[in-house]
Amino acid sequence: MDEMELMMHLHLNNERQGPGSEATTLLALQLAQIDRNRSYKIADIGCGTGAQTLTLAQSLQGEILAVDLFPEFLTKLEERLQSQTLTASVTPICASMDQLPFKAGTLDLIWSEGAVYNMGFQKGVTYWKDFLKSGGLLAVSEISWTTSQRPQELEEFWNGEYPEMDTASGKIKVLEDAGYKVLGHFMLPENCWMENYYEPLLKSHPRFLEEFGNCDKAHKIVATDLQEVEFYQKYKDYYSYGFYIAQKP
Ligand code: SAH
Repeated sequence: MDEMELMMHLHLNNERQGPGSEATTLLALQLAQIDRNRSYKIADIGCGTGAQTLTLAQSLQGEILAVDLFPEFLTKLEERLQSQTLTASVTPICASMDQLPFKAGTLDLIWSEGAVYNMGFQKGVTYWKDFLKSGGLLAVSEISWTTSQRPQELEEFWNGEYPEMDTASGKIKVLEDAGYKVLGHFMLPENCWMENYYEPLLKSHPRFLEEFGNCDKAHKIVATDLQEVEFYQKYKDYYSYGFYIAQKP
């Protein structure tokens, strides 16, 4: 089994596969100046088991195309949505974020929490822009430095993990250079990381190792998670997830 698939199994029973919260999804919706009485065609890209899909489907009207590479995540998402009262319809779509099965200029809103790094921020926001109508909105969360001065050990760690790591001003420049009008941004607070993401993730390690512990890669994934959590606790002043909200003119 490859590393991505192992990670899918590790994260499958969790509510979130990355840092986030209902409150920050709602804040991003507010910054996007969404009209709750209008009907939107939305893509939620890299939706995972659908934490933010659920919030969107309870807050907006229209249709949400929930896209992920793993059908297992989409099945969880469907199970989760069944017991809820929703104002938008949700269609799960198994596809890769860099080969979206949509027509150009057809989406009102592209949402993506903690996922665009899989194709890279610049490549992702540039490619996705074609699918937006003019006036269409983009709301994307992405790991970001909170300051230009940070410890070298931390810098080296994240440069190894994700070379596109940058400050909010750097991310905003990428959006501006791609031709977006930037509407707003904010940094996710600590509870999005610890309570909502890392704590449930750490709790899912024993079961994961029970099932996949005969595989070296599984132990490596757990070790990397532990290092990531340790780094977060030590250096959380220097980075977070930034939420970026922008519009295609
Ligand atoms: N938005 C969710 C999940 C974030 S984790 C949350 O915040 O909880 C990133 C997600 O991107 C995972 O669900 C992973 O399966 C998905 N993903 C990774 N590579 C992808 C690709 N190439 N195309 C579509 N989805 C992808």
